[in-house]
Amino acid sequence: MSEKKHIVIVGAGPGGLCAGMLLSRRGFQVTIFDKNAEVGGRNRPIRLGDFVFDTGPTFLLMKHVLDEMFELCGRSSADYLDFIKLDPMYRLLFSDRTVNVFSDRDKMREELRQAFPEGSAGYDFYLKQEGERFKALYPCIKRDYSSLKAFFSWDLIRALPSLALNHSVFSNLGKYFKEEKMRLVFSFQSKYLGMSPWDCPALFTMLSYLEHEYGIYHVKGGLNKIALAMAKVITEQGGAIYTDTAVASLIIKDKVVKGVRLQDGREIEADEVIVNADFAYAMTHLVQADQLKQYSPEKLKKLDYSCSTFMLYLGLDKCYDLAHHTIIFAEDYTTNIDNIFHNKILSQDFSFYVQNACVNDETLAPAGKSALYVLMPTPNNESGVEWETACSELREQVLEALENRLGLTALREHIECEKIITPQDWETDEHVFKGATFSLSHKFSQLLYWRPHNRFQELEQCYLVGGGTHPGSGLPTIYESAHISSKLICKKHGINFGSES
Ligand SMILES: Cc1cc2nc3c(=O)[nH]c(=O)nc-3n(C[C@H](O)[C@H](O)[C@H](O)COP(=O)(O)OP(=O)(O)OC[C@H]3O[C@@H](n4cnc5c(N)ncnc54)[C@H](O)[C@@H]3O)c2cc1C
Repeated sequence: MSEKKHIVIVGAGPGGLCAGMLLSRRGFQVTIFDKNAEVGGRNRPIRLGDFVFDTGPTFLLMKHVLDEMFELCGRSSADYLDFIKLDPMYRLLFSDRTVNVFSDRDKMREELRQAFPEGSAGYDFYLKQEGERFKALYPCIKRDYSSLKAFFSWDLIRALPSLALNHSVFSNLGKYFKEEKMRLVFSFQSKYLGMSPWDCPALFTMLSYLEHEYGIYHVKGGLNKIALAMAKVITEQGGAIYTDTAVASLIIKDKVVKGVRLQDGREIEADEVIVNADFAYAMTHLVQADQLKQYSPEKLKKLDYSCSTFMLYLGLDKCYDLAHHTIIFAEDYTTNIDNIFHNKILSQDFSFYVQNACVNDETLAPAGKSALYVLMPTPNNESGVEWETACSELREQVLEALENRLGLTALREHIECEKIITPQDWETDEHVFKGATFSLSHKFSQLLYWRPHNRFQELEQCYLVGGGTHPGSGLPTIYESAHISSKLICKKHGINFGSES
């Protein structure tokens, strides 16, 4: 590039960092602003004394997507990060049985035989069929849908039968497994998108397939190390990241984004602006209401959003005998799901997830101590729950469930430090619209061409990355969003993205 084009990125979450990494490698002058003191967004560390927790993501799926992003910067992810493959991947705790889930096929077949009268018969059929679905769909996920022309692609036409439009993940699994709990083993992953398995489109059966095909990974030090590694690459490539620097608004003239106005009043010009801050938050807070039609504040309010999460991070002065990842199902799972997604109320009988990464990673807590991460899916802030009052009662219920259902005896006596994030905190402190931690719902009418476009359709010189644009929430898909938006920017400026652009 004769004169470096300036890209300003609002937010140093996984989407913003990945785009910053790809574009600074390709000769753009990249400047990233984040309101937080540290990079990573929901993927940043929480430090409580000598304990370290991941704020959000703890499962790294499709590690090869992350590897590809580093390769596209002429680097190897292994030079920056220490990956630990988990097998068993996680433990599922139902009221009447425990299932350890392996990516090793033989171990998984044996586990299913032990746990279910139905045995492992449907497992191979599931792997074969869902493998074919994934092969058909993945090219569609990697594509841009910023125009109707791009939407009507051969990739998508070929993949149409794989979309199984009239099925949910749960009903789709009926092809392979009869027992409800057997289906839950392969469908609870809809929660990764903040959705119910009964509502989540069948195509997302690929989430459990991906775990079984590629395995899941922990990163030593926590998945937050990925964000830190990406930030390092950006600075190595000459990009600049400013933390503790909130963006107050986008500077827009005649529907063209010219730069950003910072909270401190400074105006920063840009050739392109990439928005990584939560989509619905950004469009309601950083853009004047009269600038938007399709995504005006009134219309944004009416869209469907994911559930939220109540988070408890505990620094303990002891180590419990507990798997790296445990998912505990409510005794009445369907009512719990209904309460989260339809009735929008809290359940006494709730499901939750616990990460005890210290069993594989001694860097997260001092010797003999451990860092416990607890996530309870809850309704998003459409619920009207008063979190200031509900918070302490919920904390008690979670501690009780940890003691009773996981056998963490005398847990309360071993808490050295703790932090809570409520759905209200996600909204107020983390700028997540309605506290919907997994962004816009992934129902079919909010996917692909119908999700906010990577080249944002309402404003020129404005691109989106992160969970709120195509392909959607989750680290690998967020990296793909950065990949797609970066390629669009390169194309616009006549820059060859690289071998497979
Ligand atoms: C509890 C939880 C668990 C999850 N678990 C997993 C998991 O196991 N695996 C997985 O793959 N995914 C998981 N996810 C989903 C997803 O991967 C993460 O939420 C991811 O961090 C989202 O990335 P993002 O780039 O879209 O946005 P964010 O991480 O939210 O980044 C947006 C950034 O924008 C910044 N920002 C906002 N407003 C402004 C402003 N005005 N000015 C400047 N900066 C601003 C924010 O500070 C933030 O840094 C999880 C999410 C949550 C919440």
